[in-house]
Amino acid sequence: AKAAGRNTYRFFTPEMNRDAAERLEMESELRHAVERGELYLAYQPQLALGTREVIGCEALMRWNNRRFGEVPPDRFIPLAEESGLINPIGEWMLDRVLADMSALHRALGRRLAVSINISSRQLKEPVFLERFRHYLDGYALAPDDVLIEITESLLVEDDDATMSCLDALVRMGVRLSMDDFGTGYSSLSYLKRFPFSEIKIDRDFVRDITTDPGDAALCLAIIAMAKGLGIQVVGEGVETEAQCEFLRDNDADIGQGYLFSKPLRLEDLCGYLGVRREA
Ligand code: C2E
Ligand code: CA
Ligand code: CA
Ligand code: CA
Repeated sequence: AKAAGRNTYRFFTPEMNRDAAERLEMESELRHAVERGELYLAYQPQLALGTREVIGCEALMRWNNRRFGEVPPDRFIPLAEESGLINPIGEWMLDRVLADMSALHRALGRRLAVSINISSRQLKEPVFLERFRHYLDGYALAPDDVLIEITESLLVEDDDATMSCLDALVRMGVRLSMDDFGTGYSSLSYLKRFPFSEIKIDRDFVRDITTDPGDAALCLAIIAMAKGLGIQVVGEGVETEAQCEFLRDNDADIGQGYLFSKPLRLEDLCGYLGVRREA
């Protein structure tokens, strides 16, 4: 046991200490990100594949830190989740997103759906539901204009607080979207447990649909299953016309990806939609 202990100790190389130190520093920077105004949002348009009309957008978090520069969300979101900072950050985000959407609806003269990524840590927070209702009411948005994107890993946890929060959101009229479908556990029982409005086929499958018969077959199976359940299908990471056509010709409803647009700041989203932003 002593030898193993020594081996374990030796395993912590100076490089690993540096990584740990950097994580700590990043976490302490993240702690002040909201008050320092370092967080902002990018919105990626979602288009109806049949008409190419923009029907919604996904809100994606961005962090520009004084020390670390632009930190990708794949890096800071897990850190925020582990430290619990996702709760204050998530509240900031909810307020910002719904304010932006309310302004956008006025400028556009029509409604647009918005998808928000929510992690289990947020759904477990007892005040989440009340807060959500508060911002929806405050900005006079309809609950079904908002989609909550969750991943299969959240459902696998099968936590009581999380499940009852999801049930309550559905009762409010908020729509549920299953994110990154096909990458996780993909137990079909989750689709029965909650009335999902939408499934997002992960970018990993969409990438090779026109070249890899296996990925194409998987996409077709997902679409057929979703259609059978009355669930709409979004193809993520659509980068080429060929991918777009494949999805459209095989009955997927919505596309999101660089072919149409990268995630945009609100001003640029307004430009993309051909409207001026209200003051
Ligand atoms: P996601 O939810 O799967 O979001 C889609 C990601 O794919 C985004 O990366 C988007 O910029 C990228 N993407 C969209 N179209 C294309 C394309 O055509 N090609 C390629 N290569 N990529 C495309 P992003 O913004 O870096 O976000 C990464 C992940 O970070 C998200 O993956 C999501 O899991 C997480 N994330 C971002 N914002 C939030 C948030 O506010 N809350 C939570 N909990 N997670 C977030
Ligand atoms: Ca997402
Ligand atoms: Ca996704
Ligand atoms: Ca993803």
